[in-house]
Amino acid sequence: MKLNIQNTFSNELQADANLTNVPRQVRGAFFSYVTPKSTANPKLIHYSKTMAQAIGVSEDGVSSDAFLKVFTGNKVLPNTEPYAMCYGGHQFGNWAGQLGDGRAINLGEVVHNNNRWTLQLKGAGATPYSRSADGLAVLRSSIREYLCSEAMHYLGVPTTRALSLCLTGDEVLRDVLYNGNQAYEKGAIVTRLAPSFIRFGNFEIFAANNDLKNLKKLADYTIKHFYPNIKTTGKDAYIEFFKQITTSSLDMVIHWQRVGFVHGVMNTDNMSILGLTIDYGPYGWLEDYDPGWTPNTTDRQHKRYRYGNQPKVVQWNLFKLANALFPLIEDAAPLEAILESYAANFEVQKLEMMRLKLGLYELDQDDVILIEQLEEALQLTETDMTIFFRNLANISNQNPNQALEEIKEAFYKPEELKGAITEKWSQWMNAYLERLEKEIISAEERKQKMNAVNPKYVLRNYMAQLAIDDAEKGDYQLIDELFRVLKKPYEAQPEHQKWFAKRPDWARHKVGCSMLSCSS
Ligand code: AMP
Ligand code: MG
Repeated sequence: MKLNIQNTFSNELQADANLTNVPRQVRGAFFSYVTPKSTANPKLIHYSKTMAQAIGVSEDGVSSDAFLKVFTGNKVLPNTEPYAMCYGGHQFGNWAGQLGDGRAINLGEVVHNNNRWTLQLKGAGATPYSRSADGLAVLRSSIREYLCSEAMHYLGVPTTRALSLCLTGDEVLRDVLYNGNQAYEKGAIVTRLAPSFIRFGNFEIFAANNDLKNLKKLADYTIKHFYPNIKTTGKDAYIEFFKQITTSSLDMVIHWQRVGFVHGVMNTDNMSILGLTIDYGPYGWLEDYDPGWTPNTTDRQHKRYRYGNQPKVVQWNLFKLANALFPLIEDAAPLEAILESYAANFEVQKLEMMRLKLGLYELDQDDVILIEQLEEALQLTETDMTIFFRNLANISNQNPNQALEEIKEAFYKPEELKGAITEKWSQWMNAYLERLEKEIISAEERKQKMNAVNPKYVLRNYMAQLAIDDAEKGDYQLIDELFRVLKKPYEAQPEHQKWFAKRPDWARHKVGCSMLSCSS
């Protein structure tokens, strides 16, 4: 296995002079050199052919001993010096100080076909940023990250990618529900890829430590390599930088809302400077359309990171990034203007996104009301978001009640469709059918366009859990099946129809399905 390695990040930016693994506060440095932990009995469970090709590794390369060793921490690639990044972050609204790569180790960057990918092992052992934890990851959360990051990519959502999923052969002690019940679980490592893993928190830590020299260096580095279209210099460049991050972060969250993805832990250390979905932890997928839902049990009380609040949280996180960049700009007005434009742009883009989901292309001022009324209707009785939007494209009936029959499959409790609930739904359907009459394109063309934005297959919470349950018993077939289905989420794939179904009843309140903790 031969890789074209570059070490731009670690060559251009200052390393921590201390080479030990002792947990510590790192000052004046961007990262610390670390060595991945060797693992007892590594085994490759699954890999992404597409991502192997993207970094120039052939199928033979994937089956090589070197591949297994490198991506499970047992061999350091020639020309690389693995490192963990230093960053801070606001967690659940509060400044948490230094966090950093506590269980992620960057191997270096691979450049292939003019693309640059940073290779990162997640779960390869402790670093100076591990605080009191072990730097390891368990199989269940590794399966969740591996499957979901690739699924998100194929849904068209900006995201970090995954190359491989490996077992380490080591056992890892975890308390899944944080209730004192510790148990050993199988250790695993996911190799992730992204052009860069730099986060909002990388900037925040320098600002918090009043290290303006390195704050500027990081901004200059990020602009030079990842925002090359910024041609201005000095303050103007940093303002433009913030503006473009705002644009890409908004784009990301609009996609989340479109597909029903709930991140679960939108702390500023989990916000990519490139607008990528990053750090798949206790994330989940909306099944019944409930804007108040979050899968993360740690956030049970305030539900800060609930589905309906995600766009506001992105804005809050951008505000924290603006504060961190302020010393480079020393003028609040342009930053405030960009933050204000976020709110206005969100309304515009959300409306456009919802119009596309509904198959509405002709201009109509009243679409805002139609969408508001739909959001209310969807909450009258548990309604499956994915099935609802997908089946809406199939409606052939002009009569609202008969049209409702055609989407009935989306309701979890069809028996509740009576009285006032039916009346509201009929009213909405009536308005929708009337609105469709303004459309010029044929019903068939509309269906195709709607099916391109309303996925048929998403990684429903119980699907990941089924794959995990099998994998714990040594059966990895379902991982492969889901991986394949989720590669074509907008296609009909009738052979996989069973995954286009409402959440089964057993999964409603099951740990791992509707409830997840940060324990991973
Ligand atoms: P998260 O919210 O999962 O993205 O993690 C927040 C912080 O905790 C990051 O700095 C992680 O590196 C760190 N962390 C989480 N789990 C572990 C672990 N098992 N060992 C070391 N550090 C961890
Ligand atoms: Mg994180």
